[in-house]
Amino acid sequence: MHKTVTKLADGRELIYFDTEPAVRDVVDTRPLDPAASASEVRVDPFTGDAVTIAAHRQGRIYHPPADQCPLCPSRDGRAGEVPARDYQVAVFENRFPSLAGSSAQHVTPWSDGPYTLAPGTGRCEVVCFTPDHGASFADLTEQQARLVLDAWTDRTAELHTRPDVRQVYCFENRGADIGVTLGHPHGQIYALPYVTPRTAQALAKVAAHREATGRNLYDDVLAAERATTGRPDSRVVLAGEHWTAFVPFAARWPYEVHLYPHRRVADLTALDEAARAEFPRIYLDLLRRFDRLFPAPAPYISAWHQAPRPAEAELALHLELFTIRRTADKLKYLAGTESGMGAFMNDIRPETAARTLREL
Ligand SMILES: [Zn+2]
Repeated sequence: MHKTVTKLADGRELIYFDTEPAVRDVVDTRPLDPAASASEVRVDPFTGDAVTIAAHRQGRIYHPPADQCPLCPSRDGRAGEVPARDYQVAVFENRFPSLAGSSAQHVTPWSDGPYTLAPGTGRCEVVCFTPDHGASFADLTEQQARLVLDAWTDRTAELHTRPDVRQVYCFENRGADIGVTLGHPHGQIYALPYVTPRTAQALAKVAAHREATGRNLYDDVLAAERATTGRPDSRVVLAGEHWTAFVPFAARWPYEVHLYPHRRVADLTALDEAARAEFPRIYLDLLRRFDRLFPAPAPYISAWHQAPRPAEAELALHLELFTIRRTADKLKYLAGTESGMGAFMNDIRPETAARTLREL
């Protein structure tokens, strides 16, 4: 993997990732003003959950026509976010970030009675998976998917070194039904100044399990799932030598798959070469199964769970992939029970979802 770090016209960083050494010296000549942001992180006094308030994002680009896509390479008279005429994988700082280190510094932190407010420091990056506007991640070759994995890993390592970052979250939203505002295949990386609510909840459970059993909860869950392989009611969808994908016991979404490396590691930077080499085949297989679930490719969210900093050795790197679609023409909406109470109601048995995904 070869990495070239450059700057966009407004000072944001743009990083090219190439499989072979490449000259990446095209200059961004667009007349861009520096983007301003003033995010706040407020803490819910009842749950302890952090909520980011980023009111400056309302003016961001919303569903541009394909010939004005800002993530396509810049050519034929069009200048997008990537000035090169072509690229393999490109990562740049989001122009409309929910979190932004430098410009959030002028937000003064305070605490008063039940309320706590902190500046929304951190960083938001966009990852262009391919220059091909009409493709999706599932269309990538294994070599292209490996380059994306290498880019995620590089960004995790670098963003972890920032003093204002507690957790690096790499994810992809795919499909307009999920709220994606740009059709070009891309993901995002949020370098957050706090531990996300789901990770904080998991860490509390993992600590309690360690206290009660002396074992790691992720290890026990992976072992329990792998032990069912081959049984008709198994929740395992597919497995390789270094990864296993399974529908979780208490799946919240109609089709939800968790992908674990067999050797527990805290984050992407600690994966060994054997696991890295096998990942593209397993992940592409999973995504293609999701594409075959319904007549049209399913919208999905793909979320990497990584240990926060300072090092939380007990949290296991894994990926959670799920779709909000439950039938060809029905979406799972987060309505009264889920949005109102955080109580999920799933219409599909996890064991049935696993069998469906296995047989696709
Ligand atoms: Zn595009």
